[in-house]
Amino acid sequence: MHDTLITNGHVLTMDADFIDFPNGAVAIKDGKISAVGDLTGHEAAQVIDAKGGLIIPGLINTHCHAAMTLFRGLADDRPLDQFLQTVWAAEAKHITPDTVHIGATLGAAEMALGGVTHFVDMYWHFESTIAAAADIGIGLTTGPVFIAFDGLDGQPWDTRVANAEAAIAKPHNAAHLMLMPHSCYTMDAEKLRTVADMAATHSLPIHIHAAEAPSEMAQVHDIYGKRPVAVMEEAGILAHPTLIAHAVHLDDAEITTLAQRGATVAHNPLSNAKLASGTMRAHDMAQAGIPLSLGTDGPSSGNDLDMWQAMRHASFMNTNATGNAASLPARAIFAMATCGGARAIGLHDSKGSLEVGKDADITVVDMSGLHMFPSFDPYSTLVYTAGRSDVAHVFARGVQVVADKHLTMDISDTITEVHRITRHIR
Ligand SMILES: [Zn+2]
Repeated sequence: MHDTLITNGHVLTMDADFIDFPNGAVAIKDGKISAVGDLTGHEAAQVIDAKGGLIIPGLINTHCHAAMTLFRGLADDRPLDQFLQTVWAAEAKHITPDTVHIGATLGAAEMALGGVTHFVDMYWHFESTIAAAADIGIGLTTGPVFIAFDGLDGQPWDTRVANAEAAIAKPHNAAHLMLMPHSCYTMDAEKLRTVADMAATHSLPIHIHAAEAPSEMAQVHDIYGKRPVAVMEEAGILAHPTLIAHAVHLDDAEITTLAQRGATVAHNPLSNAKLASGTMRAHDMAQAGIPLSLGTDGPSSGNDLDMWQAMRHASFMNTNATGNAASLPARAIFAMATCGGARAIGLHDSKGSLEVGKDADITVVDMSGLHMFPSFDPYSTLVYTAGRSDVAHVFARGVQVVADKHLTMDISDTITEVHRITRHIR
């Protein structure tokens, strides 16, 4: 007897062989996937009819700043350096543990409704984001942020390191931890080395922005006389599992270095395009064997947390830049949002595909919309046609967080609070 049975769908497992079951089902027991395939005769306490829709692994957003929903649309139509100046000024005035909790709750709810079951978040007061993800019920990878200057939380470096040590020692409500040095240009070599040492001490992976934009490349050159990959390599960052956000400006040798070090990448096509940051060499990086995943970046540079848009833009930007329409086909793009995302954050043993024993992170896509048929290839439909409004049901670790296109929890208090904060920001 399973807890839940999701029946009558086309199951795309996204396992190593991309096995699918055109008339399949997925069963859930104790938060894990307990059976996949033709489950005729199986019984469960709860049965969800997928009504001929697609049953897919929950999407994994490997780079965002969810609480920045509060600043959505505040600093549009300018490049990264000018964007950051505006946003950092607003953060200094309005960011507290409470406002992060509120903004991240809105962000996590937005992601859940869009079929996301796990996200990687880099932001101040990360324990507030852990609380927000737990409130909404989706999974989270996060951790302490490191920058060289005092920052909006007013912490001098030694205090920041001590607080990070204390914070990572605490229990984290099922969240996974990474150390999060913001970037090479907001750190220095010695401080990057400190974070690398901390990663070694605690066996924690690292998440960092790098090689994002022309302005960053110039800044890093001014500070170090080097490019970001060399800075990270020499500081010992790349000796640890490292998830790099952006990785847009890489030469061939740097792609080889990242592949050899086992670094992984969160590609953020919407943010890169909007801020005129450039186009990541996704095809070349995939060919080199770098595990690629997809992120939305923060909703003030994105401007939303929409993984469907991210998939489509990743595809179109790569196709347009390479002149090769076959270089990253739809299934490869969809893999970046699912099994590739899990691999990029080191959770491929428990997430990213619909296999028995893995976390029951499952999204059901409604295929009844007028734009959704005919469908000759499910991956094509998912990447080139589908959107958030097609997400019908979402389960995260076996708990239903979206039912019939609605959140299962009430976030009206959060929305009231966001309106209140927005009046102050304006
Ligand atoms: Zn970012």
